[in-house]
Amino acid sequence: MKPLPDSPLSLWLDTYGEYHPQPPLEGEITVDVTVIGGGFTGLMTAYELKRAEPALRVAVLEAKTVGYGASGRNGSFAMTVVGLGFGVAPTLMGVERFKAAHRYMMRAVDELDAFIQRENLDCDRIRPGFLRVATTQGYVKRLQHDVERMNRFGFDDIYWLNQAETRARVNSPRYLGALWEPRLVLINPAKLVRAERQLALSQGVEIYENTPAVEIRRQDNFVIQTPNGKVNSQKIAFATNAYTHQFPLLRRKQIPAFTYMVATEPLSDQQLEPIGWAGKEGIEDARNLIHYYRLTPDNRLVMGGGPVGLTFANDLDADRNPAAWRHLEEHIQFLFPSLEGVRLTHRWGGPFSVTVDLTPAMGYVGDRRAVYSVGCIGHGVSASHLNAQTLRDLLLERQSELTAGPFVRQRVIPWPPEPLRSLVAYTLRSYLQVEDWWYERELRG
Ligand SMILES: Cc1cc2nc3c(=O)[nH]c(=O)nc-3n(C[C@H](O)[C@H](O)[C@H](O)COP(=O)(O)OP(=O)(O)OC[C@H]3O[C@@H](n4cnc5c(N)ncnc54)[C@H](O)[C@@H]3O)c2cc1C
Repeated sequence: MKPLPDSPLSLWLDTYGEYHPQPPLEGEITVDVTVIGGGFTGLMTAYELKRAEPALRVAVLEAKTVGYGASGRNGSFAMTVVGLGFGVAPTLMGVERFKAAHRYMMRAVDELDAFIQRENLDCDRIRPGFLRVATTQGYVKRLQHDVERMNRFGFDDIYWLNQAETRARVNSPRYLGALWEPRLVLINPAKLVRAERQLALSQGVEIYENTPAVEIRRQDNFVIQTPNGKVNSQKIAFATNAYTHQFPLLRRKQIPAFTYMVATEPLSDQQLEPIGWAGKEGIEDARNLIHYYRLTPDNRLVMGGGPVGLTFANDLDADRNPAAWRHLEEHIQFLFPSLEGVRLTHRWGGPFSVTVDLTPAMGYVGDRRAVYSVGCIGHGVSASHLNAQTLRDLLLERQSELTAGPFVRQRVIPWPPEPLRSLVAYTLRSYLQVEDWWYERELRG
């Protein structure tokens, strides 16, 4: 986790304004539950625990500052998509489990939206809906098939828009049609995660920033060593997402992969006029290695996706990728020729967590005193919030609808050790890339 010397961690963190981290842990404390990781999952797990059992003493340890991980850097889409989306996920998960997963994600989006409004969290929330656009005839067929399949499964809030209907919303000459799902919520992730920090603090959660858990020993209680302190804790939640492999017991549950983003300067009315986009919909395309993009409240175009980074031996030093940033810049021009020459102000990237079967996973580690959550891929904004309620129930050893949910697992298929791990990951990525190349052959003439 090397700091980036000359680029911000994200547009959202860079424009957040002044931030005052909580002091690091100094000395020894004894608590009921320690949550490791100060992103959406960690803060919300701590918050949910205190709401459920106010007498519990709950501490969050964050290695850097709140929002340092994916929660402060993401594309800002709170969506129902799980894994690789409506096309692939039912095949990977089986139809019944996929349906349960989709219902879980619908609930995750709705509850996050209600929570933001109930707690009046200042995070630029809007609910503009989601377009998954087709840019080739192959993708038109793929998306129409996805819409039909989702409708057949009983999810009737997913629609097909033809080319004219799509371009009436967002006018790219490349759009041939789109899948439309009104449920999507967009937020400012840095504002949301830091508002959640305040909420957790107000609930009595103790938060220690710049406090990495450097060693964990399992004795009668857990003993968690930090650089200048020690926590004795009855229970632990690992909310460390793409960084989870650092902990020996969890080493093979997930690997980090990297996605990259850019943001333009605020677009002028003249620049936006030919594009429309008055509804500020969140947009993804129909590729495997998707592009995802939106307009911010000050009309910057923020785009991520395309090339996905992988590293040998789970090296975490891959937040920067000039080739990916160039690709995104070109893709903006490809979609919106009227934006030729637009200036990029921010370029960043970050790790997301991938399980072997590309599906989120939560559960116990060993006995019932430790829980974990990994594998939301690029779709954890909404999921992490409902996952926090699931982790709460697991920690409190309550059987609930959530603990019987689709992502709670007895066993996760382990990633193999290196060099096989890289071979599997690179092969999977190559397959996804080749399929995208095939679907886009008509663009090459
Ligand atoms: C660039 C990018 C774009 C994305 N876009 C989207 C999107 O549009 N929609 C969507 O749904 N999802 C998206 N995602 C994924 C989503 O952001 C994540 O799934 C979600 O934020 C995960 O939250 P988390 O709290 O589990 O993990 P994180 O936010 O990653 O938090 C983990 C925290 O653990 C801390 N930590 C690590 N090691 C230690 C240690 N030893 N001790 C203490 N703390 C430690 C880290 O510093 C970090 O803050 C994106 C991800 C990235 C990287």
